[in-house]
Amino acid sequence: MRAATSTRPADAAVGAVDTHCPYCALQCGMTLSPAGRASVRVRPRDPSAGGLCQKGWTAAALLGSPARLTTPLVRDGGTLRPASWDEALGLVARRIKEIAAQRGPDAVAVFGGGGLTNEKAYLLGKFARVALGTSQIDYNGRFCMSSAAAAAHRAFGLDRGLPFPLADLEGADAVLLAGANPAETMPPFLSHLRRAMDAGGLIVVDPRRTPTAERAALHLAPAPGTDLALALGILHAAVADGRLDHAYVEGRTTGFEETWRVTAAWWPERAERVTGVAAADQRRAAAILAEAASAYVLTARGAEQHATGVDTVGAWINLALALGLPGRRGSGWGCLTGQGNGQGGREHGQKADQLPGYRRIDDPAARAHVARVWGIEPSALPGPGRSAFELLDALGTSGGPSALLVFGSNPVVSAPHSARVADRLAALDLLVVADIVLSETARAADVVLPITQWAEEDGTLTNLEGRVLLRRRALSPPPGVRTDLQVLHDLAVRLGQPPERFPTDPETVFTELRAASEGGPADYSGVTWDRLRAGERLHWPVPRQPGHQGTPRLFLDRFAHPDGRARFAAVDHKGPAEPPDEEFPLYAVTGRVLQHYQSGAQTRRVEELRAAVPEAYVEVHPDTAHRAGLSDGAAASVAGRRGRVVATVRCVPSMRPDVVFLPFHFPGAQRANLVTNPALDPVSRMPEFKVCAVRLSPAGEREAQ
Ligand code: SF4
Repeated sequence: MRAATSTRPADAAVGAVDTHCPYCALQCGMTLSPAGRASVRVRPRDPSAGGLCQKGWTAAALLGSPARLTTPLVRDGGTLRPASWDEALGLVARRIKEIAAQRGPDAVAVFGGGGLTNEKAYLLGKFARVALGTSQIDYNGRFCMSSAAAAAHRAFGLDRGLPFPLADLEGADAVLLAGANPAETMPPFLSHLRRAMDAGGLIVVDPRRTPTAERAALHLAPAPGTDLALALGILHAAVADGRLDHAYVEGRTTGFEETWRVTAAWWPERAERVTGVAAADQRRAAAILAEAASAYVLTARGAEQHATGVDTVGAWINLALALGLPGRRGSGWGCLTGQGNGQGGREHGQKADQLPGYRRIDDPAARAHVARVWGIEPSALPGPGRSAFELLDALGTSGGPSALLVFGSNPVVSAPHSARVADRLAALDLLVVADIVLSETARAADVVLPITQWAEEDGTLTNLEGRVLLRRRALSPPPGVRTDLQVLHDLAVRLGQPPERFPTDPETVFTELRAASEGGPADYSGVTWDRLRAGERLHWPVPRQPGHQGTPRLFLDRFAHPDGRARFAAVDHKGPAEPPDEEFPLYAVTGRVLQHYQSGAQTRRVEELRAAVPEAYVEVHPDTAHRAGLSDGAAASVAGRRGRVVATVRCVPSMRPDVVFLPFHFPGAQRANLVTNPALDPVSRMPEFKVCAVRLSPAGEREAQ
């Protein structure tokens, strides 16, 4: 057993507390215990479910980090100086009032995060619409889950990452992972795939030979941006080889004929020419899935973070539908959610087009319901706002917001075309950042508000299978910090709201959230903290009905469209928005490493994780490196149309010679997002993080510093 190194005294009065990891959507259970007064001991609650990854084991180290913010900061003469809460909040409220009075409520914007608890995400959306009256709110989950969410809505009429319990995967004989690398992003997840791996049924679609691909019976490595063509080729193979589930397609779906009209042109040999994946391997993938007694198709960011992300996920859903997998016990399609509350964070109103309960903000009935819960007139609710990148891109422009409040996000590192985003933030009249550390975005702020973290507060999150979890407070927060709920309350009151409209107690906020979500697609009205405390496993929807046990498996009887049928989508391959050319001849692919989480604001401050991966690197085939005049360990410049990243070369013989890989957790000149392409999916508004064109060369000495 390991003890994480927290130098801040633990709260001995609390004792051992069962809670959950602060990072990814797997939300592994852990027990936190004070060990003396110098450290917080971390133990996995369910070692048989894979235990914890290195991030989870070391999570408590951040509780005692010297980098922790404990006093508000206010910009004064170009530098940030300590200030009292009264001064900081008074300044923020005064500037918001001035800016809104001059330019209207939409001049003030809000940017949230997929790591916020359900209560915070809910109150943030309410704060934006009610206290600020702005339509300009979105969140970083737009960069993570939006394509899968839109594709699931289109196909099934409802989006829940996994529409079945995670444990169902343990019975799978075959699993196709499209653009997922859980061996690094959420290693304990692999424990659920043991049977499929042992049965030779794990298929991994990824341009790189990742640690997950290493475990696969079949690794399909398409050229970046061609996954949709690969899915069409496999679907063609399945149909041509007589594997279409006719009864299912006829009884439970619509749209196959239109889809086949497109897919018929994608015989595997043609798909091979576009993707580079052998036709025989496409046929083998179709056979493995079709012949398995229990099979799943799962997608993740590799399939989703494209300007064609919705259609790419739709193509994988088409394959699952053709094989009769979704809505059947023991098989299905699902999406592996990334951020800790990536699921709940997209349900409760911090999205530009959304109200709590996964309701649409342009639906009159939804507006009436939520307005009633909030005690306002429906007409007082703003309409839809800008999506995340469009919002960031508009900051400080003549028609865009001139003030931004950021909660739970670090867009200077995590947004695409990050130099442009940094410029837009610098053009604001007011930037306010609530965070636990001085992130790269907080460094640019006019006001920084220090908040509680993870183990210092209670709240709920919804994990990747749609199960609502209670995250328990294990420690007292350090003096000087406030919870996000307190910050929203304090600001709302200063902006003239009645205090009771913005509660600070998370359970009280959740009770209101239950009412706001009641009757919506993501109905939490039957979930109570007491039920969660008692250990009930509740997957939404959980209507307020006596004895309702939640809905672990969706769609067993019918899909959520009015006719009860799933929809095929007649999607076709378009390719990446920015293909390589003579000037920029390589594909750059971005992704995560085991030791770091998202923008790295937390994990780069955990010594064990920082020591393991201290800086950005670029994975490249040795021949490609040689041609660029580079060798292992050299400083490389990875230049694209929007900027240049400096990273250390790692020669990896399994890389495709036409691809380089950049992890995106690092700041400054090492930001992978300096080169990523903000081309947006027309439906989800997801940027094309996963592929852009670059050139590789030695970094000059000045660039390498
Ligand atoms: S897999 Fe995710 S939730 Fe589990 S310990 Fe690692 S980071 Fe935490």
